[in-house]
Amino acid sequence: MKVIKSEIGLCVGIVNAYDKMNRAAQKEGPFLAAHQNSGGDWDTLKRIERKDPNIMERYPNLRNVTVVHDPAQLKPGDRLVLGFHGFPAETKSELKEKGVNLLKDFQCPFIATMDRQAEGLARDGFDLLVMGNKGSHHCTEAERLAAKHGRSCTVLEKAEDADGIAVREGQKLALIGQVTGNTETWSKVVDRVRQRQLPVKIVETVCSDSYDRQAAARRVAMESDVVILINDGGDGSRSSFEVASAVHARIHRISRKEDIQPAWLEHAETVGVIGGITVPQWSIDEVAKYVDEISPSVAPA
Ligand code: SF4
Repeated sequence: MKVIKSEIGLCVGIVNAYDKMNRAAQKEGPFLAAHQNSGGDWDTLKRIERKDPNIMERYPNLRNVTVVHDPAQLKPGDRLVLGFHGFPAETKSELKEKGVNLLKDFQCPFIATMDRQAEGLARDGFDLLVMGNKGSHHCTEAERLAAKHGRSCTVLEKAEDADGIAVREGQKLALIGQVTGNTETWSKVVDRVRQRQLPVKIVETVCSDSYDRQAAARRVAMESDVVILINDGGDGSRSSFEVASAVHARIHRISRKEDIQPAWLEHAETVGVIGGITVPQWSIDEVAKYVDEISPSVAPA
């Protein structure tokens, strides 16, 4: 059995934030770190909190960083650095008023751009269309920003949803994409809007990592008989799952290598391994090695 794998681990926004936070910890001394939507085991701040050896080896100054998950716990005088998810502008203002010292904000520039575009367009009187997943925190934030300025926000999950777009007389409508959205769906939605010659302002906000990661997922899936997706529970995994499962059906989502059932691999000549945005390359390598190790016990192709 041959094992192939994606060479795209942690996304560029996360690597940047780790790198800059590590340098800030060296320069500024100990500080608190937080960002919105921190949570599951794969969360980048959780790795700092549990002193993940792989992270500490690469970013040793992060040993001195203390993670805070609830901004309400922050007190006047606390020295704060924000991770790749950042905080909404309102939360930052509240913290500033409270006397929290925001040293650095390492929010991913793609997320900052999507939020800035959503708010700017809504402020300028545009109702929003967002290609993405209902319930994704990126879409929820766009909905919140649209509502803040009295505008509507509609999430388009499938290309076909673009067929239902109707522009009312005098209505200004703009289309943006969830940063981690499905890039194939984005292209199809844009094509349909253009084919119908709808007066919709189109603003590209899907991030570059989504294009690279999903292209790699598609490539690995096309060359494999079975695909193992390391699922971090985020939208970055969801889009990779969608593009890989569009290629064929033998795709399985796991959280750790022990989840793999040998029966999944039976009669497969090639097994592919891919991961979501918060899955490091070393986790992809580990799962690929594990598949290789258990393959002698699996029914041959
Ligand atoms: S997936 Fe894209 S938008 Fe999200 S943190 Fe990574 S680079 Fe930024």
